[in-house]
Amino acid sequence: MRASYDVVIIGGAAIGSSIAFFLSRSTTFPGSVLVIEKDPSYTKCSTTLSLASIRQQFSTPVNILASAFSIDFIKKARAKFGTLGDIGFDESGYLITASSHGATALRANYKIQQSLGTESALLSPEQITQRFPWMSTKGIELACLGLSGEGWFDPYSLLNLYISEAKSRGVHYVAAEVSDLDVSNGQVKGVRLVDGRKISCGCAVNAAGPAANSIATMAGQTLPVEPRKRIVYVFDCREKAKITNSPLFFDPNGVFCRPEGNYFLTGVSPPEDQDPTCDDFDVSYDLFENIIWPTLANRVPAFEAIKLVNAWAGHYAYNTLDQNALLGPLPPVSNLYFANGFSGHGIQQSPAIGRAIAELITTGDFMSIDFSELSAERILTGHTVRETNIF
Ligand SMILES: Cc1cc2nc3c(=O)[nH]c(=O)nc-3n(C[C@H](O)[C@H](O)[C@H](O)COP(=O)(O)OP(=O)(O)OC[C@H]3O[C@@H](n4cnc5c(N)ncnc54)[C@H](O)[C@@H]3O)c2cc1C
Repeated sequence: MRASYDVVIIGGAAIGSSIAFFLSRSTTFPGSVLVIEKDPSYTKCSTTLSLASIRQQFSTPVNILASAFSIDFIKKARAKFGTLGDIGFDESGYLITASSHGATALRANYKIQQSLGTESALLSPEQITQRFPWMSTKGIELACLGLSGEGWFDPYSLLNLYISEAKSRGVHYVAAEVSDLDVSNGQVKGVRLVDGRKISCGCAVNAAGPAANSIATMAGQTLPVEPRKRIVYVFDCREKAKITNSPLFFDPNGVFCRPEGNYFLTGVSPPEDQDPTCDDFDVSYDLFENIIWPTLANRVPAFEAIKLVNAWAGHYAYNTLDQNALLGPLPPVSNLYFANGFSGHGIQQSPAIGRAIAELITTGDFMSIDFSELSAERILTGHTVRETNIF
């Protein structure tokens, strides 16, 4: 590690390492890059505890475009990076279902997605039964199925791709915790580590995930981002052979389920009033017993007899303003770039966000996808970007 870098990235998981990856590939940026990561095992970060699922079924054009780039990146990874790009992409799709209550919104979102080239189809209950005969359509009026590009992948492999490639192109990584920022005249001049070391920098990037606000505070700023616990339950089903061709499906009440090897993963976001800021990893089974299991049994008759085999907790970096990304600097500090607040859709956006923040740092603007409506500056105006397809 040197005493000074052009760019210092705080947090080396999906977002921080994707930014490092794209900076290291820039043909116009000869600068030096350091990634500071406090836990290089990456066992407690959102990235590796996530479901690593990707969809284009959003309501906001910028989120749809971000996923489109990420899907392209993921699909081409094997051809571009060889075995390093083998990230286990399973393109089984997303099936988002709606009751009569949500059908109008689902149809409207479908139209927006279609206008941006998304390959998906609206399905009536009869069409759902034809494709997925193991699923009950009770209470479902309409569903939308991604036909291409949606599915899930292995988050460790994607992270490993970013890190390995970035390192091979000269990015330095250090295992250390950032404890403070040196800020003067509206500029971050350096970063201080818990072990007392200091590193000067031309600019800094906050890629600290659920800890994003603690980094912002070091620069005298406040981000509306807090850790919110999300629990993933793993279950087995005796009659799993019946569940063929399963996409990741969402019940109209928000419970999701998808296959993973011989098992299934499921979960649901708790109601807003039961979703406090929380940074422990304790697993509670209340949501599973009271909401998830009854929902699954109602939706898939074969799931009436299931066995819970595991569960884990991770954290969303929950943006309380509008649950969307907060990108770029927040005045008056001009060279602290935020890449935070992704809530439940950060790993799928990581290729697009890595490229976008690298462009912002090297050119001063978003060049490929215009992410300006997700700029962190909206915190100051209170302008929100509402995404209705958020779970
Ligand atoms: C249960 C669950 C399911 C999810 N499912 C999906 C999904 O299906 N699809 C999807 O797109 N997204 C999903 N997400 C969200 C996704 O995981 C995150 O949005 C994404 O991983 C964010 O990546 P990140 O790099 O910003 O944060 P993180 O992965 O949390 O990484 C932040 C890093 O910063 C480091 N750090 C923090 N503070 C410091 C410091 N002071 N000094 C040095 N290092 C520091 C941490 O150690 C950590 O490694 C899910 C999240 C959870 C919890």
